[in-house]
Amino acid sequence: MSECVLKVTDLKKRYGEVRAVDGISFEVKKGDVLAILGPNGAGKSTTVEMIEGLRKKDSGEIEYFGEKPVHITKEVKERMGVQLQKSAFLDNLTVKETLEFFGGLYKKALKSSELIDMMSLGEKQKSKVKNLSGGQLQRLAVAVSIVNDPDIVFLDEPTTGLDPQARRMLWEKIENLKVQGKTVIITTHYMEEAEVLADEIIIFDHGKIIARGTLQELLDSVSKGKYVEFSLDKVDGIPEELKKIEGFKEIEKNRYSLPTEDVEKTLSIIFNISHKENFYIENITIRKMNLEDVFLVLTGRSLRD
Ligand code: ADP
Repeated sequence: MSECVLKVTDLKKRYGEVRAVDGISFEVKKGDVLAILGPNGAGKSTTVEMIEGLRKKDSGEIEYFGEKPVHITKEVKERMGVQLQKSAFLDNLTVKETLEFFGGLYKKALKSSELIDMMSLGEKQKSKVKNLSGGQLQRLAVAVSIVNDPDIVFLDEPTTGLDPQARRMLWEKIENLKVQGKTVIITTHYMEEAEVLADEIIIFDHGKIIARGTLQELLDSVSKGKYVEFSLDKVDGIPEELKKIEGFKEIEKNRYSLPTEDVEKTLSIIFNISHKENFYIENITIRKMNLEDVFLVLTGRSLRD
């Protein structure tokens, strides 16, 4: 069995009446990428900040690298990397100076040149922080999070606000951390980020874990099926027979979806109805289930709501 680097048991935190974190338990194996996925306000940041020692927990236990300190120790902090918010950087320092500044805070630090190479920031090493693009700034933030060559790295919404290209580039960098044997914990509300990066996914909602597993396990837990999506040539009067099919849903104006475990059978049913009722089915797509569907099935709400 792989070494467990972090184990959280029954972690709780309240803000007044709000149970921000309401009895969270999970563990992370060495070298895994764990994604904590959930909508805004689900309690992801509060959980991670309690683990990082930045917020005080109300109750529960946190075991780091097999030990259970009463308070987080310096030794544990030396082995942990935390992604800072943009506001923690000094605008007028260059990329290289920023890495050297943060490296200076630890006993052991990686060379800035090494970090710059790892995050493809070579061309920008002499640029001031204030002149970086969003993607470059986020790569710098990830570089700073590993400046102390940590065993476990926490990335909080690492690609929020990035365009798809910058996001993909950062994903590659995060995958490289895993190749180096680091354990990575990412909080995100992008299901795609979790789908691409995570060995294991934990879904949070209202301060609780509502599902946990590999991507495949989570998908299989709600259904082994797919979705048939289609439009009709008539906008008014969806045939009653269609509406009665289990799981029928209007996903947007004149766009409908049906969950299915037998695509051919479902297509044949809807074509039969369309012949009988005299309308045409248009723009058919067949798509696999994704994490958004898992969340929807489990909570009745969309991840993005
Ligand atoms: P997430 O990271 O999933 O968006 P958070 O952990 O930030 O969720 O927040 C969980 C809940 O706790 C939310 O209802 C949020 O409004 C509340 N909360 C977070 N931080 C504070 C705080 N410092 N004071 C009061 N309420 C807070």
